[in-house]
Amino acid sequence: MSVRVRFAPSPTGALHLGGARTALFNWVYARIRGGKFILRIEDTDKTRSTKEAVSAIFDGLRWLGLDWDEGPGEDGTYGPYYQTKRLELYKKYAEQLLAEGSAYYCICPPEELEKKRKEAAKNKLPPKYDNSCRKLTPEEAKGKNAVVRFKLPEGVKAIVYDLLRDKVEFEADLLDDFVIMKSDGFPTYNFACVVDDHLMEISHVIRGDDHLSNTPRQILLCQSLGWKLPKFAHIPMILGEDGSRLSKRHGATSAIEYEKKGYLPEAMFNYLARLGWGYRDQEIFSREELVKKFTIKGISKNPAKFDLDKLNWLNGQYIRKALPERIIDLCLPYLEDAYDTHDFDYVSKVVRLFIDRIVVIPDIVALSKCFFTDDYDIDSAAVEKHLKTEIAPKILGELKGRLEKTEPFTKENIEPVFKTLASELGLKLGQIIHPCRVALTGTAASPPMYDVVEVLGKNKVLNRLKKQ
Ligand code: GLU
Repeated sequence: MSVRVRFAPSPTGALHLGGARTALFNWVYARIRGGKFILRIEDTDKTRSTKEAVSAIFDGLRWLGLDWDEGPGEDGTYGPYYQTKRLELYKKYAEQLLAEGSAYYCICPPEELEKKRKEAAKNKLPPKYDNSCRKLTPEEAKGKNAVVRFKLPEGVKAIVYDLLRDKVEFEADLLDDFVIMKSDGFPTYNFACVVDDHLMEISHVIRGDDHLSNTPRQILLCQSLGWKLPKFAHIPMILGEDGSRLSKRHGATSAIEYEKKGYLPEAMFNYLARLGWGYRDQEIFSREELVKKFTIKGISKNPAKFDLDKLNWLNGQYIRKALPERIIDLCLPYLEDAYDTHDFDYVSKVVRLFIDRIVVIPDIVALSKCFFTDDYDIDSAAVEKHLKTEIAPKILGELKGRLEKTEPFTKENIEPVFKTLASELGLKLGQIIHPCRVALTGTAASPPMYDVVEVLGKNKVLNRLKKQ
């Protein structure tokens, strides 16, 4: 069977992490099966859909490298992948259902329906439509702002065969004659979705399990229209660390916000892939590897918890794997902004020193402060321990005298200065390096000392040693 999967966002905001993960699972499944990944914009909610949200979804997908084989043009051209451009098709199939007696017009005023819903809720009954328009003829409905309702077949069982959870049976009782076309000629989500999944020949519907309750309606519609059902896989939700559904409360929830926060797309891609899916206990997956190892069965049946520490860890791993030049380019604007520096050569050397310590790109600003300003933070405990000793001033004074004469001021020449001084004073190398590190950087932890000395440069080094 040729695999055709789709990601069908409603453009009402940025690409949410849950949506991004759904898109990713669909994308990878298409790739692994040599199929097609289709992007469909479900923009029939006129009040909530915006052009900006469509661009934001494109941005998020593009950032994560989730390219689509069929879908709207990224230049804003419509094409047949926006539901609002497909209204004629929904109308055609609604008319077919009406003609076959599988659907009917309903003219119940919304206020009356609302009143009935409230009453049902008061009596603890399901808020079901009472089918009162079933007997209405099309002529009686004409000009009366009618909606079209699906006529629930008698005695049916709504069973969803889900690839993740086997069989999910729905109480037919919970269903009612639901609306498929609104009075303004727009389809409802369930109807448009069924028509499009059929016309786009979707083989697998992989989506969040918040849609599981829609699936029986979609199955019944599909069967009434005589169409073959796609296979379904409903993926468990993403929860925040406190176990409630991931929301703004838990921090950034849109994929693209993570780009702005200094995450690499490959780290986010890997993180989302592992969020609710696994292959043994492997954590790091390249895109290519994922395309070899992904299976729908590997998706967990339980909700996944968003774990920022793990994302941070992965980001660090990918920063170390990346070409240093790329990390330098990403750090540059932050450093320019923070320190008004435009010396690319110097910035490159500084960033290289910290690549092992950056978790998210903006970290570079705080990490490298002492390289760009003399007003850097001083760790008073480190000062107390390493500089306020009897011998520290003598050591640093000697070191300064010797470094002053070191030329060229390179790591290769700097290293022997430290070593010779240690042996001449009968000290361990650490007894020279520790006070020097605190004197030059204000902290007891920094990148390797000789690199720091070289990159800081003679002027800064001598000035800082002189101050001690
Ligand atoms: N437009 C729906 C959403 O954004 C799509 C659901 C589906 O994949 O069928 O949630």
